[in-house]
Amino acid sequence: MAKRLHDKLMVKPGKKIRLSDWDPSYNFGWKEEEARAQTEKNIEEIIVLQNILAAEAKHSVLFVLQAMDAGGKDGTIRKVMSGLNPQGCRVTSFKAPTPEELSHDFLWRVHRVCPGKGEIGIFNRSHYEDVLVVRVHGLAPKKVWSQRYKLINEFEHLLASNGTTIRKFYLHISKEEQKQRLEERLADPKKHWKFNPGDLKEREYWKNYMDAFDDAIEKCSTAHAPWFIIPADNKWFRDLAVSSIVLDTLRDLKLEYPEPSGDFSKVVVK
Ligand code: ATP
Ligand code: MG
Repeated sequence: MAKRLHDKLMVKPGKKIRLSDWDPSYNFGWKEEEARAQTEKNIEEIIVLQNILAAEAKHSVLFVLQAMDAGGKDGTIRKVMSGLNPQGCRVTSFKAPTPEELSHDFLWRVHRVCPGKGEIGIFNRSHYEDVLVVRVHGLAPKKVWSQRYKLINEFEHLLASNGTTIRKFYLHISKEEQKQRLEERLADPKKHWKFNPGDLKEREYWKNYMDAFDDAIEKCSTAHAPWFIIPADNKWFRDLAVSSIVLDTLRDLKLEYPEPSGDFSKVVVK
């Protein structure tokens, strides 16, 4: 069997990362139509496996999504996670911390929303903001944020050792693609609600963000919580890649329905 996208896109622990060397529109030879059809198949199987994950209630799964503004986090969640049973799945979007959150350590607000047994957790932004936006804008001194890579690895190790499978996606778009998407939001009144003038300011820090992402991915892609760099200029390839990795993650858990609590072969429902 051809090597899985899961293995092709995974960042091996210790690998040096320079995102400028990664092509955001690479598609491994996939054609759009085939990719869309395969994505639909992947989603169907993901739905079946989520059902078994919930029934078995043995494993937890956490998917982390990070990207620049307009990078496609929302669209990916909408597409790939559509059809999941909401009872066993929770999406959390991390915004600028509240005063209460700031009065605790940076992982406090994260730990409390991590998935329990049988659940899938999806993070739209995450604890990585604390080594991204915080670093780029100096919201904490270097001696504080520079220690966080190690703390994040330890935290993720704790989750993994308690039965959580963690997969982290960086949706990699080009600066040009971001420009087009922001312009689309401006041109379409139905997308105005998505336009945030603050995104234009952030765009000026593109290079600083890329440096911060290089370090976050390089320092925190571990065997128990790997990063995946997803070429995301083409939405159809992004959805194929993320759905394939989600599916392979669930398949690799070798999920099984739990043993029935007795022999029901002679039970009659009157
Ligand atoms: P969209 O892509 O739809 O705009 P979004 O995820 O960008 O969604 P926003 O409300 O626009 O949502 O932005 C959330 C903001 O919160 C981001 O600018 C992000 O950098 C910021 N943020 C998240 N976590 C932290 C943190 N720990 N410290 C400071 N800022 C944070
Ligand atoms: Mg935003």
